[in-house]
Amino acid sequence: MARAVAGPEIERLIQLLSRLPGLGPRSARRAALHLVRRRADLMEPLTAALGDALEKIVVCSTCGNIDTRDPCTVCADPARDASMLIAVENVADLWALERAGVAGGRYHVLGGTLSPLDGVGPDDLNIEKLVRRAHESEVKEVILALNATVDGQTTAHYITDLLRDANVKTTRLAHGVPVGGELDYLDEGTLSAALRSRTPF
Ligand code: ZN
Repeated sequence: MARAVAGPEIERLIQLLSRLPGLGPRSARRAALHLVRRRADLMEPLTAALGDALEKIVVCSTCGNIDTRDPCTVCADPARDASMLIAVENVADLWALERAGVAGGRYHVLGGTLSPLDGVGPDDLNIEKLVRRAHESEVKEVILALNATVDGQTTAHYITDLLRDANVKTTRLAHGVPVGGELDYLDEGTLSAALRSRTPF
């Protein structure tokens, strides 16, 4: 084990920072040093922001998003298209779609995907509530924005079956060539999915 170069408080800070996604031990050390150097304008506000967030974080009782208010900022936004309900696996996917800024609908966070191997069944996910929401009169389309993995697609099929009675159009994201992607570098599965999902030009 590397010899400690700082007191236990700073070593602890480094250790905790290194648990953040995208930060290894080296970058955690660099981040800790940056914080220590900029105590007044960064470390103090960050400490306060962490405390505030910790105190107020709630899971939205409507969609399952994480926010500091319930209903969450997305659900409470009157400018959203209430006819479009976008089902995602987790909050990270919701935030990713929001970053793209193209959807403009409301969301439903499933909390994972069906995975018989890992013992995840329908009751472990937020599926029942999605079906209930799909029956609300203003909802016209449910977009299954799930990962293009076996579990993601199994879950999409399962939900599609459950939504048969609801008066909604069920759609999924297109599978295929990524923007800026070169055909030569794609695997066969992606290429055949792209060919099957071709669209008129
Ligand atoms: Zn919400």
